[in-house]
Amino acid sequence: MRSEAHAHGVGAALSDRVREKTGVDVARCYQCGKCSAGCPLASEMDFPPSQVMHLLQLSAAFPELAEQALRSHTIWLCLTCEICYCRCPMELDIPAIMDALRHESLQQRKVNPRARDILAFHRAFLDSVKYTGRLFEMGQVVDYKLRSGHFLQDLLQAPWMFLVGKLHLLPERVRNRRQLARIFAKTLKARENRP
Ligand code: SF4
Ligand code: SF4
Repeated sequence: MRSEAHAHGVGAALSDRVREKTGVDVARCYQCGKCSAGCPLASEMDFPPSQVMHLLQLSAAFPELAEQALRSHTIWLCLTCEICYCRCPMELDIPAIMDALRHESLQQRKVNPRARDILAFHRAFLDSVKYTGRLFEMGQVVDYKLRSGHFLQDLLQAPWMFLVGKLHLLPERVRNRRQLARIFAKTLKARENRP
């Protein structure tokens, strides 16, 4: 059983780290629910955005709620569309919080199993940009299928996409790939140095 001091520390650390990473103080949320009412994905989420804010607010006292936020499907479903941010009367940057929670969730290896395909898609997208400087759709599709194991998914869409020029067999590459490599290296280093 966790001691009260330890339990307090774990929860406090999450809301503190979210504030350090985003500058957003979740205590300012007064649970009006406007963010959840406008969120296009709220019905698909295990916790709509206002509930994520509530989990964070209570996480200092109840560390299992911090755990629920980090293990939620919600943080991976969020599209960063910023509707919640626009609607929030306190101007709380919820998309930035979702991003910080995704980062924490990855770091602490607490990614929701249902987010596996979403992560595979993110990684395939980033790989394409990393190696070509652009989105190479064919490469991304193959990369995603290898990562996710969904080899037959949407296979029938491929021929007509190819015919209308949406899929190319060879990637276009940016000229200055060294600069691209530097950008990725710098971003990775900055991520490692984040609190
Ligand atoms: S809209 Fe803002 S204040 Fe209202 S519940 Fe959402 S985050 Fe909290
Ligand atoms: S940014 Fe995320 S949480 Fe906010 S409205 Fe869009 S999908 Fe919902």
